[in-house]
Amino acid sequence: MVLIQRLVIQKTTSKTEGSPPAFQWKLWLYTNYDCNLRCSYCLAESTPTTHRRALGLSSAQRLVDEAVELGFNEIFFTGGEPFILHDIYDMLAYSSTRVKTHVLTNAMLLRRKRLEKLLSVVNNNLVLQVSLDGGVPEHHDSYRGQGTWAKTVEGIKTLQAHGFRVRLSTTETPANSAHLDKICEFHQALGIPEEDHFTRPLAKRGFSQEGLEVSKTSLVPEVTVSLDGIYWHPLSTDPDMRVRKEIFPLKAAVECVQEQLEAIANKGGDTPSTFT
Ligand code: SF4
Repeated sequence: MVLIQRLVIQKTTSKTEGSPPAFQWKLWLYTNYDCNLRCSYCLAESTPTTHRRALGLSSAQRLVDEAVELGFNEIFFTGGEPFILHDIYDMLAYSSTRVKTHVLTNAMLLRRKRLEKLLSVVNNNLVLQVSLDGGVPEHHDSYRGQGTWAKTVEGIKTLQAHGFRVRLSTTETPANSAHLDKICEFHQALGIPEEDHFTRPLAKRGFSQEGLEVSKTSLVPEVTVSLDGIYWHPLSTDPDMRVRKEIFPLKAAVECVQEQLEAIANKGGDTPSTFT
């Protein structure tokens, strides 16, 4: 907790003008990199044939323990599509009994046995964050593939019917930017409140050839772990965003983020963005 407090103090005192963004104490875990979809703007370059690079249950559990000890108050499981993994339910059960836990998904696989297993994990600490880019198929399918909007909406309704809290995330693209009001009407019709919907811009990373350029200097750090190391932010696990190769101990990773953040702040520059 002391480390986190130091980071917060550093962030909130490093600028002389304006209000710096609040430091987000979120830990992100890339559970895997393969996915049932192949979205053309995927930041993780995920496809059904992408090498899995699974983090693994024991590492995820140790990270949860160390994160709780350090004072992180939210953990996000992302990929790839986490529900491809057989052990994602054990990860979510372990995490959500200790800390607020979010899992990012396209909601297309959550039927039958997967749904049954997820139902054994449901609790108030667990939030399903589903990617939905529009209130109609053409605003979503152009980047994610034909027919994906209908399947994701079906998945959202199934999750709601079984009592899960569903949060929606929308990536703003040229296909939907003039119609963001439609997605708001749509999620409200589904009974999803404004506080459980957010929109973020397209980032020029991974498969995306368009969107905002992002880097360590433009993003407020959110400690992100994959099998390959510790990264600055979940938007990218490209080599330039890596903070440290060794995952453990997490405390050392936080110290590395702190040192790099201090170096960036000392150089001045624009106020970074929280983005997620
Ligand atoms: S954007 Fe999400 S759903 Fe699409 S390929 Fe990447 S990980 Fe899969």
